Amino acid sequence: MNEVRLQNRVAVVTGASRGLGRAIALALADAGADVALLARDRQRLEAVAAEIRQRGRKSLALCCDVSSEAQVTSAAGQIRATFGAVHIVVNSAGINLRKPITEFTLEEWHRVLETNLTGVFLVCRALIPLMRAQGYGRILNLTSIMSHVALPGRTAYAASKTGLLGFTRALALELAPEGITVNGISPGPVATEMNRPLLENPDLQREFTSKIPLGRWGKEEEIAALALYLCSEAAGWITGTDICIDGGWTAQ
Ligand code: NAP
Repeated sequence: MNEVRLQNRVAVVTGASRGLGRAIALALADAGADVALLARDRQRLEAVAAEIRQRGRKSLALCCDVSSEAQVTSAAGQIRATFGAVHIVVNSAGINLRKPITEFTLEEWHRVLETNLTGVFLVCRALIPLMRAQGYGRILNLTSIMSHVALPGRTAYAASKTGLLGFTRALALELAPEGITVNGISPGPVATEMNRPLLENPDLQREFTSKIPLGRWGKEEEIAALALYLCSEAAGWITGTDICIDGGWTAQ
């Protein structure tokens, strides 16, 4: 397969301050894209922006809570002023709160839904106008194996990620006439900060690993490689779908 080339493409990655968002942002930059980075932690964002500039690409670090309409609108304005257009949007910002339903406060429930689902709505609504008329658009949402199966203690997270899968399909149909594709990537467990509670508990970590037919957790670069493909020209006939990358978890 030809190497992925994203020269002259502008990408926006949310949740880019660490974890999968950072790995995907770096992979897009390695392929030649300029990348705007959104998250709340300015220091970490600036560090990732510096890594991208070291690769010879432009980068813009934008402090933005994706669940805030005002902050997303302001970030979109800065992206427009800096790059003029957007070709690729990767929604990786997300949180996970694991606890029984009776221990959830309403505020916690809203926080998960507003970050993982409303945040994607706000970012897409703000950036799609910048994607139109390029003749090229790729939107990629980080869904989860919890969009397909479930575990106890994941009511809010699974609800948000299952909702995100429905959002992905509906938006794909809406944007297909404009040549913009919309897909999901559903990872199984990857050792990022989100999974610290599991990584810090050897029993839980073993239990999770035992559910993975391939016998190990995923790697950030494996998720980034799939994301890069889905953001490329080569993936132009894939839309409205979701790819599980989970070592076989959901095949059982
Ligand atoms: P992570 O290491 O915890 O990173 C989450 C990112 O989201 C951070 O950059 C964080 O940055 C950002 N974020 C959180 N709340 C935000 C908000 N309100 N506004 C803006 N940015 C926000 O998690 P990850 O593992 O990279 O997860 C990335 C995505 O993949 C998530 O959507 C997650 O649900 C999904 N996923 C992960 C796994 C996994 O095993 N790792 C599996 C399935 C799906 P700040 O704190 O700086 O804002």
